Amino acid sequence: MDCIFCKIAKKEIDAHIVFEDASVVAFLDIHPLSLGHTVLVPKTHVENIIELPSELVSPVFSGVRGVASMIKTSLHPDGFTIGINHGKWAGQDMDHLHIHIIPRWKDDKGKSIHSVVQNPPTESLTETKNRIINNEHGN
Ligand SMILES: [Zn+2]
Repeated sequence: MDCIFCKIAKKEIDAHIVFEDASVVAFLDIHPLSLGHTVLVPKTHVENIIELPSELVSPVFSGVRGVASMIKTSLHPDGFTIGINHGKWAGQDMDHLHIHIIPRWKDDKGKSIHSVVQNPPTESLTETKNRIINNEHGN
């Protein structure tokens, strides 16, 4: 498989790894948006969080928590933006699930995750809720 993140996980490509356990590996983003910008991936190749096996959900989230804690202690950011670009139209550039852990500082001129899109629905929240719930129970 020609996946860079799988190769990093297998140590076939060098990366600046900051955390690793049996299930995940976290390394500095090669194009950091801020000091300490880290990417965490499951070692298993899965495209997105919906495809993530149940047994890996906890290790991935624990890894994110652990890396954020390490960065907080060592680099002392004032906050974090933590997120996933899921799908091509949301900006996913690698087809291997990866969680961005982006340290934030007071007055860093960055924006919140609410700034990524402004495409509000025309239907009511009740309609949306019902569509989600009914589809879930319908399948
Ligand atoms: Zn992969």
